[in-house]
Amino acid sequence: MTEVDMPTADGSSEARATLHRVFGYDAFRGEQEAIIDHVVAGGDAVVLMPTGGGKSLCYQIPALVRPGTGIVVSPLIALMQDQVDALRALGVRAGFVNSSQDFDERRVVEAEFLAGELDLLYLAPERLRLDSTLDLLSRGKISVFAIDEAHCVSQWGHDFRPDYLALSLLGERWPDVPRIALTATATRATHQEITQRLDMPTARHFEASFDRPNIQYRIVPKADPKKQLLSFLREEHPGDAGIVYCLSRNSVDKTAEFLSGNGIEAVPYHAGLDAGTRARHQARFLREEGLVVVATIAFGMGIDKPDVRFVAHLDLPKSVEGYYQETGRAGRDGLPSTAWMAYGLNDVIQQRKLIQSGEGDEAFRRRAQAHLDAMLALCETAQCRRGQLLNYFGQEPGEAGCGNCDTCLTPPETWDGTVAAQKVLSTVVRLQRERGQKFGAVQIVDILLGKRTGKVIQFDHDQLSVFGIGQELSEAEWRGVVRQLLAQGLLAVEGDYGTLVLTEASGSVLRREREVPLRKEPKRPTSAKAGSSSGRGERKAKTAVPELPESLLPAFEALRAWRAEQAREQGVPAYVIFHDATLREIVTAWPTSVAQLGGISGVGEKKLVTYGEGVIGVLAGLGGTPDDGEAGGGKAAAQGDPAADDWPEMDAEPEPDDWI
Ligand code: ADP
Ligand code: ZN
Repeated sequence: MTEVDMPTADGSSEARATLHRVFGYDAFRGEQEAIIDHVVAGGDAVVLMPTGGGKSLCYQIPALVRPGTGIVVSPLIALMQDQVDALRALGVRAGFVNSSQDFDERRVVEAEFLAGELDLLYLAPERLRLDSTLDLLSRGKISVFAIDEAHCVSQWGHDFRPDYLALSLLGERWPDVPRIALTATATRATHQEITQRLDMPTARHFEASFDRPNIQYRIVPKADPKKQLLSFLREEHPGDAGIVYCLSRNSVDKTAEFLSGNGIEAVPYHAGLDAGTRARHQARFLREEGLVVVATIAFGMGIDKPDVRFVAHLDLPKSVEGYYQETGRAGRDGLPSTAWMAYGLNDVIQQRKLIQSGEGDEAFRRRAQAHLDAMLALCETAQCRRGQLLNYFGQEPGEAGCGNCDTCLTPPETWDGTVAAQKVLSTVVRLQRERGQKFGAVQIVDILLGKRTGKVIQFDHDQLSVFGIGQELSEAEWRGVVRQLLAQGLLAVEGDYGTLVLTEASGSVLRREREVPLRKEPKRPTSAKAGSSSGRGERKAKTAVPELPESLLPAFEALRAWRAEQAREQGVPAYVIFHDATLREIVTAWPTSVAQLGGISGVGEKKLVTYGEGVIGVLAGLGGTPDDGEAGGGKAAAQGDPAADDWPEMDAEPEPDDWI
């Protein structure tokens, strides 16, 4: 049999050997092996894999196994240096060419490429399409083209880069070089668009599961968002790195200031800051261990910091896709992480208004509306959030209830909100029919509560028959009712002032033809860790990764301190030295020789040579293996307090009378 007859078998074993030797990993994950075998054998591939799924290996290993240099097209110039540093730390010959370099630096890299001395070369698409670059590439040998963040080719997404469209020429110009396009954007439509626009009709498609079991999803009612965020961070993520997303630049600045003023190191990031400040803040986030970045969605794409422990949303994302991408930046290392969001009535009103007053034709608006509706459904669901997310992306949730989202851990109570809904809707009807007026949520709630505010008196609204008919609920609860009616499409927002109007579906509620189940609003929104408080129906969080036994924490911390020192000396992020996950494995296995250390996942050949003695030295300095008496210890559960008493009394519902 000739070599040509069995390229896959050879490629496959070489790929596994490379995985082990260079990256120090024992086994491929999920679809990695199939993808790598396919590309090593010369096939094109379109890969959909969630953030943290392990996309990088899918092109890095083919680039190492096939002869020539792998060309990686990436839109993220600011991150190329770190990506290349991380590869060099593994002993991979990597380089980049971009506008941050001067002429001489570029020349050096180009010469390395031409001499066949590079395994991987990173380029931005706008550089790749230049004639001079294409000319350079045709004078060297290319093993594979990897198109990272391939969803940037989609004109409908907010990451659209026109230069990506030019990448379709790669196939024409280098028909024999395999191409692999990768993205974490989950929708089928984007997938098809990538295939079409990059002109990859014969590509094999790979779609990984989009479940991120180590991320705990939680959505809490918004009351005082900054304070809620602060206690979430203090109680659950002290000293952790994370991202806080806000909608506007103004709220980014204010939130960053607020956190800093309260002893949490935080920096802002948005498009209104100059490029230098943005680059500095991003670099600090990557290099420091516990920095919080407060940002608009301008921040985050391609950030491959593995130890982002939380992503918090203070405003509602515009779509489930956006929510999934942003929250996906947490926990790439597979360790427990939190996706936390505070969400309230104003979010719904604001987003609905944005869509109505925004640019775009009717079709665009309808699409935006549908995206928002799906996001609202996720916020208001009483079912497992993970299940709903996976369903949204057309994937089967594994089992009933994931055990690691707020609705699984603290099943929300629902109540029959039909009467409350009728009260809200008939107040809207009265105002319109009797007075020809439309008002926003604040006035409607004031009327229901019977509050004689200036505006109520000014418009004689205390004369309406619905005035004061809603004293059984608090203001926060009424806002919750209005929010849920908006989310369910039983009420709509109109115009620049966010006035409330009926929808086609409202009539059936007023005519008592349908019931309106609602989620109960906690009276006092709590940020206490889901599952850690004692209370009705709560379960303990089933995280994918157990906490490190307490007896091993000192060693873990000692290794982290050693790692920080190494990172400082070399001017690279700490995770370039070793990931937290690797340090955990090291303290758990407690190797006593460099050879033993080599058997640990995440310790490849080069790192063993560079850091082996150092790691063994740190462990030896701590004495022998700790007496591991209380494995599985971990943090004691916090004493939360959302007891049943905190739920509003909903039993004593007055009968509807003349206001119906
Ligand atoms: P993505 O680009 O898909 O977001 P990465 O390629 O950055 O994900 O991989 C995420 C993390 O998983 C990284 O820390 C990487 O080192 C690790 N990883 C990837 N593949 C494996 C594997 N086969 N075994 C162990 N760890 C892996
Ligand atoms: Zn769940």
